[in-house]
Amino acid sequence: MKTKKKEVRNILVTGGAGFIGTHLCTKLLELGFKVYAIDNFATSKRSNITNLLKNKNFSFFENTIMNRPLMDKLIKKCDMVYHLAAAVGVKYILQYPLESLLTNLNGTENVLEFADKYSKKVIITSTSEVYGKHGKTLFKEDDDAIFGSTKLLRWSYAEAKAIDEFLALAYFKQRKLPIVIVRLFNTVGPLQLGAYGMVLPRLIQQAIANKPLTVYGTGEQTRTFTYIDDVVGAMIALGFEKKCIGEVFNIGNYDAISIKDLALKIKKATKCRASIKYVSYEKAYGKFSDEFEDMMCRIPDIRKIHKAIGYMPHYNIDQIIKKTIEYFKDKEK
Ligand code: UDP
Repeated sequence: MKTKKKEVRNILVTGGAGFIGTHLCTKLLELGFKVYAIDNFATSKRSNITNLLKNKNFSFFENTIMNRPLMDKLIKKCDMVYHLAAAVGVKYILQYPLESLLTNLNGTENVLEFADKYSKKVIITSTSEVYGKHGKTLFKEDDDAIFGSTKLLRWSYAEAKAIDEFLALAYFKQRKLPIVIVRLFNTVGPLQLGAYGMVLPRLIQQAIANKPLTVYGTGEQTRTFTYIDDVVGAMIALGFEKKCIGEVFNIGNYDAISIKDLALKIKKATKCRASIKYVSYEKAYGKFSDEFEDMMCRIPDIRKIHKAIGYMPHYNIDQIIKKTIEYFKDKEK
């Protein structure tokens, strides 16, 4: 069978060994694509991709997206790019602000520059952080962004990701480069590490070990959690839907839960006898606490993505907790 001119066969996933990247590569391989992945294991584990490496349609490059000759070569070879490689996690950003900024700015610049050189579609992974702290409850794609002071390094992540979005949109407007931007809201599930702050894996691992569950601040702050399968499905659908080009989409879940209630649910689901331990932000972030500011509420408006691809999250918070507990318990065996 002859390959159609525009048919997508080879896909590059930057950050392909990370939590979301690994799940995305797995799904793309299942769908029959040839997948190229690049990752430097800065915040991910080699063990994530042990199984993928056995797949003849998976090619892995242990390297950084700052390696321009390699990025040129990989993007030339592929028909489409999912750009996920980034420094993420509040604790990591506060600890390594310079590396984080450089990776999140220059890395994305490289991806877009070479995608433009070879006219390849790019799906840019952004974050709910780009809304900053505008104080509204529901975050809509074209809402204003309000960031904190540049003295608070916590905002450097949000600002870098916002610049990535500007850059992608500028390539789209000026150079007609096909891009899609996705803003993820607290994606969770198997393979996510708690080491850099992410609350769900942290609390679940603490509960399984019967250790106190650390809730920062009052625990009244709310989040909405989206299961990885819902996110990956949405990312793939958006990448292949022509009318999504040049657009920004929230990917998330409507159901908000306070971190205190999350801890209570996890305690119940694991039958954990340990207590909830309230930890001040000063204690939690130590010498970096001056640079930190928490978000009290963050709920995505998902009407746009629903209209575009019929997206609706399948997993509610109880199912998410159950599945993630199963994963961590299995891992212990
Ligand atoms: N958090 C917590 N205990 C932890 C880790 C995080 O209470 O052990 C809180 C954190 O302060 C924030 C929420 O959980 O209010 C979500 O944190 P995470 O880092 O997972 O995501 P983000 O802040 O980026 O939404």
